Amino acid sequence: MRGVIMYVPGDVRVEDRPDPTVQLPTDAIIRLTASCVCGSDLLPYRGQDQMSGPTPMGHEYVGVVEEVGTDVAAVTPGDFVIGSFFASDNTCEICQAGYQSRCIHAELMGAIGTQAQFARIPLADGTLVATPGMPDADVIPSLLAASDVLGTGWFAAVAAESRTGKTATVVGDGAVGLLGVLAARQLGAERIIAMSRHEPRQQLAREFGATDIVTERGDDGVAVIKKLTGGYGARSVIEAVGTQESMIQAIRATRPGGHVGYVGVAHDVMLPGDELFFSGVHLHGGPAPVRRFLPELIDLIWQRQIDPGKVFDLQLPLDAAADAYRALDQRRATKVLLTL
Ligand SMILES: [Zn+2]
Repeated sequence: MRGVIMYVPGDVRVEDRPDPTVQLPTDAIIRLTASCVCGSDLLPYRGQDQMSGPTPMGHEYVGVVEEVGTDVAAVTPGDFVIGSFFASDNTCEICQAGYQSRCIHAELMGAIGTQAQFARIPLADGTLVATPGMPDADVIPSLLAASDVLGTGWFAAVAAESRTGKTATVVGDGAVGLLGVLAARQLGAERIIAMSRHEPRQQLAREFGATDIVTERGDDGVAVIKKLTGGYGARSVIEAVGTQESMIQAIRATRPGGHVGYVGVAHDVMLPGDELFFSGVHLHGGPAPVRRFLPELIDLIWQRQIDPGKVFDLQLPLDAAADAYRALDQRRATKVLLTL
């Protein structure tokens, strides 16, 4: 099969890789219909994450089941399926509590590499969710978004308790931040402030439900949020970047007693304990348990009530993956879909 390998930072190639096979009775093999490049793939690409040699890439996927191990009962060959970036058994106590990304048997799909024609899915019964039938081509980008960026934005909105009657603020205008706006709207937030200084992303934020756009950053951005919320700060803040500046901005924009849902992969973030102590805010986040939300998200997409696939603003064939990484790195694209 063809699949993406990153050799060193900045060096992405599409090569022949061995076809995956069922290794454990709980495995399934899927033929991917589409894959994509994630903001977190840029960490090794930019040399911000250590690499230990040539690495398969990709952790988002939708596709058709080709083969299943003898213990797999929930999906069968021919099913169209979606899974998250962590495989999970969905039966342990952590999974049952709704935190499947931290399942005691969790396996990182990025280590398998789903920017490829085929992929082995561990713990297939717990990991994969089948759609009601074969999807129309126009909903495939939205179903692929559910695999990570939508599920992650959704978790952020839930963790930030973006509910009816509340003002939600979203720090970060990447795909996750934009879908955090969509999620906050679906969950009933009445006012949604998107922090963005990029015109095309502001436009998409408005389409997804943002009522206000704030272009200021850091403490200037915090001052504007305070002004917009009667001096109190937002009740509900989504952090979707993962830098020191964005995390502090999110905490300072939240009123005492409010909630921060943080899902940006933290990179060198150090929180000052004294400021955290006196902030009086709830912090909840981490790697999103996307599996918890997949049935609900698939249903909303299937009923065409949400269109998260709009975040894909560039589509390239798998063999052009190097161009996809470049476009994302240079911020020429918000999210790149790889066709197979
Ligand atoms: Zn589990």
